[in-house]
Amino acid sequence: MPPRLARAACAPFALAALAALSACANPASEPAPTPSAATDVVVIEGARVFDGERDLGVVRLVVRDGRIEAVGGDGPLPAGARRVDYGGRYIVPGLVNDHAHLGNTEGTEHGGRYYTRDHVVRDLRQFQAFGVTTVNSLGMNGPAFYEIRDAVRAADPALGAWMLGAGPGIGAPGGAPPAKNMGLAEDAVPRPADAAAAREAVREQARRGVDIIKLWVDDLGGQAPPMAPEVYRAAIDEAHAQGLQVAAHIHDLAPAADLVASGIDVIAHGVRDRPVDAALVEAMRSRGTWYIPTLQIDEANYLYAEQPRLIEEEPALRAALQAPLRARFQDPVWQRRQLEGEAAAKSRAAVRMNLANLRTLHAAGVRIGFGTDAGALPHRVIGFAEHRELELMTQAGFTPEQALRTATRDAAELLGLDDRGLLAPGRRADFVVLDADPLADIRNTRRIRAVWQAGRQVAGPLADFDPDRNAAAR
Ligand SMILES: [Zn+2]
Repeated sequence: MPPRLARAACAPFALAALAALSACANPASEPAPTPSAATDVVVIEGARVFDGERDLGVVRLVVRDGRIEAVGGDGPLPAGARRVDYGGRYIVPGLVNDHAHLGNTEGTEHGGRYYTRDHVVRDLRQFQAFGVTTVNSLGMNGPAFYEIRDAVRAADPALGAWMLGAGPGIGAPGGAPPAKNMGLAEDAVPRPADAAAAREAVREQARRGVDIIKLWVDDLGGQAPPMAPEVYRAAIDEAHAQGLQVAAHIHDLAPAADLVASGIDVIAHGVRDRPVDAALVEAMRSRGTWYIPTLQIDEANYLYAEQPRLIEEEPALRAALQAPLRARFQDPVWQRRQLEGEAAAKSRAAVRMNLANLRTLHAAGVRIGFGTDAGALPHRVIGFAEHRELELMTQAGFTPEQALRTATRDAAELLGLDDRGLLAPGRRADFVVLDADPLADIRNTRRIRAVWQAGRQVAGPLADFDPDRNAAAR
């Protein structure tokens, strides 16, 4: 079994969440939330509930102090309960993104220089508006990561989606993540050259308090030296000794297979160079290795250039695009440039391979997580990418119910977060209220009426979300 995430005492597993959170927060950086003196009980009525596992039909949810107290039942209301009527609507758990990035973009630009608290909170608020209530920032976080994360958790849900992450991650010397392409001018990503340095990098990140270790194992299409097997094996071993899970960026089958054999916990992108073989399928299945396909990552390279009308036709895309990015997507010169040459054809082929491999792995019973790489680059559009990913999963043979289960129950389990992902007694009251049935058409997850996190309505309706105003807010 892969180890649980470390710092369990600082994750909100315990029911005494407020006490645990305030003990872990940095009180100097963020005032603690003021818990209301009176008990806060809300009864959510009238909606049809998908609890993260199955369709429960129309049931009542009782929420007390940020947690689900009861699901179903029709007895008398708890004393002092506030009633909220969502008759005719649909409720699903808040989505959990296992692979995203925070604070890495500004308009059409990206890079480590944008990693500030304001940019991270901007992104977390945009995720939250789109119903993504937990975000794992899987690498390229700046030095302020630890302080920002603790402040976000202490203020939960006021600073947007609840977050965790990998700190900077661990890369290869002169290789992935490509410092220049990713704008890592003062490269904060450690790049160990040997096993001893890999162990030290992991120990240092464990000391600082990362939630997960991230490795990049990719030769970037033969353009760069990949991380050596002895380096990633040492990193995996040391992370497990420190009680941390390890997730690896990959693109190709060969490194994915060797990482799985080396005990990696999470393959954090889909295999896109060739079909997965029976050996990898069996190794992942028997070891319980997680697989995050990130189908949207390659589609984002051509989708907006190819279908500029999506901006008019998709209110959820409009709600996700700040003005500079919207202008870029609507620029015919940019559109033409994106689609000419080999890059777009390669991206299309990568999506086809990724879909086929996901179909194979899912059918074989490999554990599938949910992630998009949103936020790493501007066109990996925060919020829209997640809803598009759900739709792409149905193209790989998932039913809407299976796609939603993956993005809620399973995505939380991947991160070791047993306090969310399901709408069940004792779990966090993180849920999304939809105007139309997501089990009938997965695209209905975009029709967001309201988002609740930690028992409070924090956003909605999505149609009213203004990404420019959100970006300007401080
Ligand atoms: Zn990533």
